[in-house]
Amino acid sequence: MSGSPLRITVIGCSGSYPGPSSSASCYLLEAEHEGRTWRVLLDLGNGALGALHTYVDPLTIDAVLVSHLHADHCLDLCGYYVMRKYHPGGALPKIPVWGPADSARRMAKAYDLDEDPGMNEEFDFIPYDNLAVEFGPFRVTAREVVHPVTAYALRVEVDGRTLAYSGDSGVCPGLEDTARDADLFLCEASFMEGAPNPPDLHLTGAEAGRTATDAGSRRLLLTHIPPWHDPEQVLAEAVKAYDGEVALATPGTTYDV
Ligand SMILES: [Zn+2]
Ligand SMILES: [Zn+2]
Repeated sequence: MSGSPLRITVIGCSGSYPGPSSSASCYLLEAEHEGRTWRVLLDLGNGALGALHTYVDPLTIDAVLVSHLHADHCLDLCGYYVMRKYHPGGALPKIPVWGPADSARRMAKAYDLDEDPGMNEEFDFIPYDNLAVEFGPFRVTAREVVHPVTAYALRVEVDGRTLAYSGDSGVCPGLEDTARDADLFLCEASFMEGAPNPPDLHLTGAEAGRTATDAGSRRLLLTHIPPWHDPEQVLAEAVKAYDGEVALATPGTTYDV
């Protein structure tokens, strides 16, 4: 039995596109509340819906939180839409999908649907605003971060435990605020030091480590490493910049927050 009120399972953690041993970004959050397990997905990137079946019945998901509308974070909402709408057991009830303001239109376009109804009968698309999302046991705060499109870092709190998720982000105050004193900081590390990395796009392992240090995060989990990089090198960068416990996210691993 878990000692933490919040558990996270890595469904997919490959950076920017699916790799040979992982789908793109997707994380399953679970917490007990009112006598049952509540399940929320952080992102549903390409390839992740297939992998999700390995860990849980996808029809038991209560909500999805999308960090931003790049394909590697949202595209498997297309397959999930089909699964819920056309399931032989009958259409499933609408579930909330929090995300950027344009999510409903963009997902309709991704599936080549008319905007009305688009996926609006399957998903209740809700834009992040300045208020925290209160959903079952979860309290979620979204902060805008720097990335080429509107993107959010997400801070999820359950019974005094805090998970911070970077989504995709360059170094910025929104990211550090999200990671402040977090029990577990799930942070992207797509870049490597010494390369001509464009600004305001992604983090190196060293930048992820420094952000965790500056924010006082208690544990660091590196994710979103693209298959073209060596994860051990990214990890080594982060270890130099952060004194706490740091690890590489791996598909199928569950962490108590
Ligand atoms: Zn990404
Ligand atoms: Zn992105």
